[in-house]
Amino acid sequence: MAKIAINIATGSLQKEEIIVGIDLGTTNSLVAIIHPDTRQAVALKEHNSSSLVPSVVHFDAVGNITVGEEAKNFLITEPQNTIFSAKRLMGKSYDDIKENASFFSYKVIDDNTQSMIKIQVGNKFYSPVDLSSFILKELKHRAEHILKTPVNKAVITVPAYFNDAQRQATRDAGKLAGIDVLRIVNEPTAASLAYGLGLNKEEEKTIAVYDLGGGTFDISVLKISNGIFEVLSTNGDTYLGGDDIDNSIVKYWLQQSGINEEELKLNKEFAQAIRLKAEEAKIHLSSNDIFEGVLNADQLTLTKKVFESLVQPLVDKTIACCSGALKDAGLTTKDIEVIVMVGGSTRVPLVKENISRFFDKPVNDTVNPDEVVALGAAIQADILAGNNKDVLLLDITPLSLGIETMGGLMDVLITRNSKIPNKAARQYTTHKDGQSGMKISVYQGERDMVKDNRKLAEFNLTGIPGMPAGLPKVEVSFLINADGILVVKAKELRSGIEQSIEVKAQQDLTDQELEKMLRDSITHAKEDIATRALVEARTEGEQLLENTEKFIQKNASQLTKEEMMQTAAAMQALQLALTMEDKDLIHIKVEALNDISRPYAERIMDTAIGHAMKGKIV
Ligand code: ADP
Ligand code: MG
Repeated sequence: MAKIAINIATGSLQKEEIIVGIDLGTTNSLVAIIHPDTRQAVALKEHNSSSLVPSVVHFDAVGNITVGEEAKNFLITEPQNTIFSAKRLMGKSYDDIKENASFFSYKVIDDNTQSMIKIQVGNKFYSPVDLSSFILKELKHRAEHILKTPVNKAVITVPAYFNDAQRQATRDAGKLAGIDVLRIVNEPTAASLAYGLGLNKEEEKTIAVYDLGGGTFDISVLKISNGIFEVLSTNGDTYLGGDDIDNSIVKYWLQQSGINEEELKLNKEFAQAIRLKAEEAKIHLSSNDIFEGVLNADQLTLTKKVFESLVQPLVDKTIACCSGALKDAGLTTKDIEVIVMVGGSTRVPLVKENISRFFDKPVNDTVNPDEVVALGAAIQADILAGNNKDVLLLDITPLSLGIETMGGLMDVLITRNSKIPNKAARQYTTHKDGQSGMKISVYQGERDMVKDNRKLAEFNLTGIPGMPAGLPKVEVSFLINADGILVVKAKELRSGIEQSIEVKAQQDLTDQELEKMLRDSITHAKEDIATRALVEARTEGEQLLENTEKFIQKNASQLTKEEMMQTAAAMQALQLALTMEDKDLIHIKVEALNDISRPYAERIMDTAIGHAMKGKIV
C-alpha cells in the first residue's frame, strides 16, 4: 500500500472542516473539539448547561425519539420505553449478557442464539447500533448547533477491552448517524493524550488509567513509546460505578427511616426522587462535610463519615482489580510512573486518596474527569486532520479490507486507517452438511454490501472433510506486510487444509476514486445498514427454519400433536415474512417460532436447541 497523504487518509477534502472527538459513554456522552483560536481542547456545551448528554434514549407511543436529560426522566416512569446503558450491548449476543439480563429494565430479546442482540420497544426492534446511533445523532446535532457548521467527521472512543465486533458496531453506529468515523480510539489512550502523554516522541512511560464512571469500572495499564500506546493489561468490573454509590446511599436512608425496599419498588416516583437525592448528596459531599436535604417533608441527612463508610467497600473492589491488572502486565505499583483519573466518580476525594495510597504517588486529576476522554479524542482528531505536525504519521490502509459473507454482506477484517503492517483473523463455518468447499472473496471498501465495494481477489478452499454444517472451523486471516502486500489465507482448523492468495491492494485506485468511495459510504449509510439488517434478519430466519425442521424430523415422536401444529403454523408465518422487505416482521415471527419451540426443545434436549450459529457463514 502506498504512502497515503494525510488528507486522503482521513478522507478530508477541505482542510478547514472540523473533526470532533466523541466520548460515547455508558452513562454520559459528549463532544469536544480543538478550539481553532486557542488550540486548546474544549468540551462543547450550550450556554449555561452541562457538556454531558446522558446516554439514554426514550421512545414515546408514536415512535418519537428523545435523547439525553429529557429521556432520563422516563427511566423510572417508563422503563419499557427508555433505554439506558446501550453501550453494554454493543457487539453482543443474548448469550453474552444472559447472566446480567435482569439489569435491563427494558425488553432484551432472548432468542437463544449467538446472533447480535435486539431490543424491543412496542412492536419495533432496535439493535444496539441503532440505539447508539440515536445518541450520536443527538451529539452531532448539538455540535452543529453550537458550532454553526456541519459536523461530519469524528474520532470516537471505546473501552480498551472492546473486541473487534464491539468496535465495528461503534463504527456502524457512527455511520448510521451520518458521521464518518475516522478512527476508534481506546478511552485510556484518549485520557492520556488529554494530559499530553504520548505527544512527545522520545517519551517512554508506563502508566495506569483508573476510570470509575456511572456503571462501570476500568483499569488499564499502558506503555507509551515512540508516540504509540500499547495496552499491557486491562481489568475492571462492568457492573461497578457511581450508580452503586447512589444505591448504597438510598439503602442507608431507607434503613434510617424504617422503610423496606419492597415499598420502594411499588412507588416509582418516590424511588426516582430518592435516587436523585442520593446522587445530589454524593456530589455535594465531594466538597462538603454534611448533606442535609428534604424529600416529601422528610429530612435526609448524610455525613461525610457515613458516606465514606458506604463508598469504601466499592473502592476496595476497584483496588483488587488494579492489583489484577498489574499482575497481568507483570508489573508492580513501583513500575507505574503516571496515574490518570477518569470518570465522574473519581471526583469522590476518598477514591483519589485510596488510589494515590495504593500506587504510592499523587494521581493526575487536573483535567475534568467527565470530559477528559472526549478532550483526548479531540486531540487525536486534530492529529488526524494533520494540524499537529510534530506527531508521527504512520502508513495506513486507506480503505477497509474484508470478505463476503452470507447474503452478500461485507465482513471487515482490517478497518480503514489501520496501521501497516497489520494482521487480522476471524473464524467462519459452513452452511450445508458435508460442504467440502468454501469460496473466499476479498473486497475493499466501506459499503455494507460487497457488490458496492471493489473486489480484489477470490479463491476456493477445497477439500474440507465431510462434516455437519457449522462444525468446520475455517480461519480466514489477512496479513498486510510493510510493502502493502495483502496475503489472504484460509485454513480449516480441524483438518489443517489451507489455501492462500497474494493481493496487491488498490494499486490502480486514484485519489478521486478513493474520495468517492469514502463519500458514498456516508451518503448511502442509511440504506446500507437497513439492507444489512434485512439480510441478517433473513439469514437468521432461514437458519431457524432449517434448524427447526431438522430438529422436528429427529424428535417428531417426542412432540405432542398440538406442538407440531403450532410449530408448522409459526414456520409458515416466518416463511412468508422472509419474502417481505420488513426486518421487524421477520424478528417478530422468529420470536414467535422460538417461543413455541423453546419449551419442547428444552424438554427434549434439556439444553439449548441447536439454533445457534457457530460463527458466521461464508
Ligand atoms: P460513563 O463513563 O459511565 O459514561 P461518567 O464518567 O460520566 O460515566 O460518570 C458518571 C458518574 O459520575 C455518575 O454516577 C455521577 O453521579 C458521577 N459523578 C459526577 N460528578 C460527581 C461528583 N462530584 N462526585 C461523585 N460522583 C460524581
Ligand atoms: Mg467514560
